[in-house]
Amino acid sequence: MQAQKKGVLFVFSGPSGVGKGTLKAKLFEEFAGQIAYSVSATTRAPREGEVDGKDYFFVTRQEFEKRIANNDFLEHAQFAGNLYGTPKSYVMSLLDQGINVLLEIEVQGAAQVKESMPESVSVFILPPSIEELEHRLRGRGTETEEKIRERLAASGREIACAQSYDYQIVNGGDLEQAYRQLRRVYLDQTQKAYPN
Ligand code: ADP
Ligand code: 5GP
Repeated sequence: MQAQKKGVLFVFSGPSGVGKGTLKAKLFEEFAGQIAYSVSATTRAPREGEVDGKDYFFVTRQEFEKRIANNDFLEHAQFAGNLYGTPKSYVMSLLDQGINVLLEIEVQGAAQVKESMPESVSVFILPPSIEELEHRLRGRGTETEEKIRERLAASGREIACAQSYDYQIVNGGDLEQAYRQLRRVYLDQTQKAYPN
């Protein structure tokens, strides 16, 4: 009997407001059933409309630190004053079942994943300009002015890491064009793992 092919782990990064969530939603719509999203744990407070267990597992700092000590995370990092981490056992069990997994994480965590799982596929989403990034972040209307500034300040440092990713995609004025590039990466990488 042939061994079960493992799923492909995709790691998505890009500055806050660049459109990661939007592109992710399109990918999940098209490839529903083949790819799962790993819900992260965070110490950040939920935004309006966010659901515990769907958007994040919202936990206290104490709980988060306990999970770090238990080695429960595939990676974890601090971003804009809050802790974020990827639950390890969930991701590993999906990959073992042949299901592809997408992580949407910031750059320090992505570097940790590449280090421990070099076979993972990393994609960095770039904005067409910092002005447009600010425009999108403000347009989304989910953050306070202070948080917007904090996130914009982080964006330069994050963009400086883009070259260390396997793929870079600019989400410019045309969302469909960026999506076509992302879908090509997905198909190329998953067909490699699942030959016909
Ligand atoms: P992220 O998940 O990276 O923080 P979002 O997916 O929430 O970003 O997108 C931020 C905002 O930008 C949203 O309001 C979204 O509708 C908008 N947006 C996403 N892609 C584009 C695009 N190509 N052109 C214009 N607006 C976009
Ligand atoms: P937000 O607060 O906007 O939801 O997320 C802030 C940043 O944290 C984003 O860049 C997001 O991709 C990242 N992030 C979300 N979950 C995780 C995670 O589990 N680990 C790491 N390292 N970053 C995460």
